[in-house]
Amino acid sequence: MNFYGFYGNERAKEYLNSAFARHSFPHALLISGERGIGKKTLADIVARALVCTGDDVPCGSCNSCYKAKNGTHPDIIRLGGDNDTVKVDEIRALKRDALLRPNDGERKVYIINHAEAMTHQAQDAFLKILEEPPLFTFFIILCYNLSDLLPTIISRTAPVTLSPLSDADMGRVIAEKLPELSSDKRDELIKTSGGVCSFLIEEKNHEFTDIAESIANALCSCDELKIFREFAVLEKRDRDTLLGVIDELTVIIRDALVISSGAESSLISLAGRQCSDRFATAYSTKTSCEIINLLTAAKASCMQNVGVAHIIGSLICKLAYIAANAASKG
Ligand SMILES: [Zn+2]
Repeated sequence: MNFYGFYGNERAKEYLNSAFARHSFPHALLISGERGIGKKTLADIVARALVCTGDDVPCGSCNSCYKAKNGTHPDIIRLGGDNDTVKVDEIRALKRDALLRPNDGERKVYIINHAEAMTHQAQDAFLKILEEPPLFTFFIILCYNLSDLLPTIISRTAPVTLSPLSDADMGRVIAEKLPELSSDKRDELIKTSGGVCSFLIEEKNHEFTDIAESIANALCSCDELKIFREFAVLEKRDRDTLLGVIDELTVIIRDALVISSGAESSLISLAGRQCSDRFATAYSTKTSCEIINLLTAAKASCMQNVGVAHIIGSLICKLAYIAANAASKG
C-alpha cells in the first residue's frame, strides 16, 4: 500500500499492508488517536486503496483514484461532520445502502468520522450491520475517545491506534508541506507541535493567504513584471498550494466586489480587507468578474490534472494582459 503523505506510525502501516497483501482486509477498521493526529488522512488513503483499480494501491492515477481524490467517488461514503452527531436514522439509511452492490467497482467504503458522536441508539443499530457486513462493504470508523463507543462495537473491529510523530518525522512533514520555512522556524514548530500535524493546515492556510495577497497587490500595481515575479513563486510548488492560493485570491477579489457594491456586512475575510480595498480601487466590477472567471477555469484545470507550470503560465499571460489594459485606462 502507498502511504504517501502519511508519516510515522510504522506499526499501523505494516498491519494495513500485510492485511491487504493477504487479501484479508478487515471489514471494520477502528482508527483511534488524539485530535489532529491524522485519522482522516489515513482513512482517506485506506478508502482509496480499497477502491483503486491500479497495481500499487492507491495508484493515484486510475479513474477510481481520481474520483476519490476529488471527493466524487460514489462508493466512498462519509458520515459525521466535525460537530455533528450521527443519528439513528442515518445509520438505518446506511444499513440499507450497505447491502446494495457498489456503483463503480468491487467494493464500497463507509468512513464514519467522530464515531463517539453516535448516539447509543445509533451505535446499537450500527452493531447489526457490523456483525454481518456484505463481502463488498467496508467500514472505517474514526474515534478519539474510545470510552464513548460500545464495547460490542469495539470488539467487532480491527483496531489501529495512531501515535504522535517523532521529531524526525515531524521535521520531514514540515519540510514537505512548508518548504520555504527557515530552519529556526521549523525547529520551533517541531517543538510546539507535540507530534500532531493538524496545526500545519493552519500554517499552510496562512501561507496561501500571504502568497495570494502578494499576487493581489502585484495585480493592483498593474506592473507586469511584479505579476510575473509573484506568480513565479508558485511554479516550484505543488498542486494543493496552487489550489489553496487560487481560493484565497478568489476570496480577496470577491470581497473587492462586495466593497464596490457597498454590502460590507457580507465580507468573507476581514483580515484581507485592506487588500480587497486596493483591488476595488484598481479594477472595475467587470474586470474583477473576468479575473474570477479566469481563476475558476484555472482551478478546474488543476482538478483535471493539467500541469501546474502550464496552468500558471497561461494564467500569468492573461492576468498581465488585463493589468496592462487597466493601467492604460487608469
Ligand atoms: Zn488507483
